[in-house]
Formats: sequence, structure tokens, C-alpha cells
Amino acid sequence: MQKKLICGIIINVLLKIIKRRVTFILKTERISRKKEISKIIKTIFIFFLLILIMLFIKFKLAYRVIIDGKTIGYVDSINKFDKLIEDTIIDNKEENIAYITLENEPEYKINFIPRAETIDDEKVLDEIKSKYSTIMYKYYEVALNNETKAYVDELEEAYEIVDEMKSKYYYDSELDFQINEKYTEDIENIGTDTLEKATDIIEVAASKIEEKNNAIAVINEVNFSYLPVNGRITSRYGESSSLRRSTHTGLDIACDWGTPIKSVSTGIVTFAGKSGSYGNLVKIMHENGVETWYGHCSNIFVTEGQNILAGDEIAAVGSTGNSTGPHLHFEIRINGEPINPQDYMY
Ligand SMILES: [Zn+2]
Repeated sequence: MQKKLICGIIINVLLKIIKRRVTFILKTERISRKKEISKIIKTIFIFFLLILIMLFIKFKLAYRVIIDGKTIGYVDSINKFDKLIEDTIIDNKEENIAYITLENEPEYKINFIPRAETIDDEKVLDEIKSKYSTIMYKYYEVALNNETKAYVDELEEAYEIVDEMKSKYYYDSELDFQINEKYTEDIENIGTDTLEKATDIIEVAASKIEEKNNAIAVINEVNFSYLPVNGRITSRYGESSSLRRSTHTGLDIACDWGTPIKSVSTGIVTFAGKSGSYGNLVKIMHENGVETWYGHCSNIFVTEGQNILAGDEIAAVGSTGNSTGPHLHFEIRINGEPINPQDYMY
């Protein structure tokens, strides 16, 4: 009876052990299967990771910039590039450019590109600017009475010219100076002037209009608007004198030593220096072969080739050359032939 009981207990214990063992084996198998699956997953993951690493070693991600189906280049960031377009094209701060219009907005596509490929936003932008946009340039026209026009790049320059002209000719209501903003796609062909040249163009035109308006004499269509000096006539044109070999070719006007001598009209200095019996002499060529000569000067303020406006002080009265006292010897010549100044003035 006791034996049976002991046997029963032993069998029972053995059965329990077997049961546990089997459960253990079954459990281990399940775990190892799970392990195998995770191993496979890990291998696949590492495989993809390696491919990805290799991809990133050889290639990089960039945005392809496309306009009209054409690839313009690559950029790193759409936001950064859009801002660059906005800053340089839409709100451009370049001088002379009024505005730039993009014909077509760029499109972007993300791409793997070889690492060696350079990314240059500026280059892409320049390409877009030169090929896919219209640049409108701005310049300024300074006009006088809608006739004479000079062109400058900056509004400040235009104002400078007009201000200078208005201060010089403020009393002349016949002079109407205007500033007009102009646009062109082809700035090269407009050929804006330097401030100096533009001022000169307008000033000569203003001076000529003023000359015409204030003309005291018109000789061969040239307007004389100033007397060279005010003074007493001491010798007339055509007079003979023991002092000179031939008849007098000009008009002598006596005035104080050093009195400024004014050019009678706009012109160019063709001679400024010593000339025999004339002493210190200035010759100014106007238009249509009309030339004026100013002799016996004590001092000369101009040089040969200089442009002169009517009323400019060119020299000072003196008594150089064949002269007995301070006076201006004034001559008017047409195509080299002297004429009598008193037929027109004095
Ligand atoms: Zn004389």
C-alpha cells in the first residue's frame, strides 16, 4: 500500500517534470522562431541602411529649378531661393532698374544629384534674370521747353541740373525746365550722359534761348545778347589814324583798367594770347562764320578750345599792344572779314 503510494508520487512527480520539460521545449521553440524573424528584419534593415548610406555618400538631395520645362539648376532650399528671387527680382534694389518681371514662376522638384554637382543660387538666379525675365531700366530726361533733352541715370542728378539752371535763369520765364522719368528695356541704346555733359547740353540750349530773347543784335542769325563792356567810344570802325597802318578794323571803347569783358554770344575760344599790335587778344567763334575779337586786354580768363556762354567774363580791359590807354578793341568778323559793330550795337 505504501509502495503503491510512493510509486504514485514518483510517477506523479515524473509526469510533472516531463510536462514542464515539454512546456519548456515548446516555449524555447517559440522564442527561437521569434528570434529568427527579428534577425531577418534586422538584416533587411541593415541592408537598406547600407544602401541609404551609400546613396548619401554618392548623392545629395537638392531641388531642381524648372522653368518652362527646362532645368535651370539646383538649389538647397525652396524658401531660401524664393526669398532671393523676391529680394533681387521683385523688390530689387539695383540702381537704374525700375522693375523686373518674371515671365514664368519657377517650379521645384526634389532630386538626388551627384555630390560633385555644385549648388549656386546666384548662378541660377542670374540665368532666370537673363533668360526668363524682362528688366525695365529707369532713367531721367531733363528737358528744356520740350525741345532740348539730356539724359541722366539718377533723379538727384536731374534735380541738380534743373536747380542750377533755375538759379542761373530765374528771371527768364521763357525757360521751362522739366524732369521726366523714363523706362527702357535697352539702356545701352539710350546712352545716358554724365552729369557734367547733361548740364552742358541744357545750359547751352538755355543760354541760346536767353540770347534770342534778350538779343540786342542779330548778325548772320547769331544773337548777341551782351555788350562786351560799357564805355565811351574813342575810335570808330573805318577811321584812319597815325597810330595804325590801315583803317580801323574794330571799335575802341574806353573804360577803367581791369573792367571785365563779356562774350557777346555763345561760342568757342579760337585764340587766347598775345598777338602783335592787338596785345592780349581773345577770339571767339560763334555760329555761321561770325567771330568776335577782344584786344588790348590786361588779363585773359579763358583758354583756346573753351566753350563760352553769352555774358561769360573772358578777359579784363587793359592797354597791351598798340594802345595809349585802357580800352577794349572790339571786332566783329564774318567769315574773316571785319564789319562795322556800330551797324548793330553801340
Ligand atoms: Zn582799336
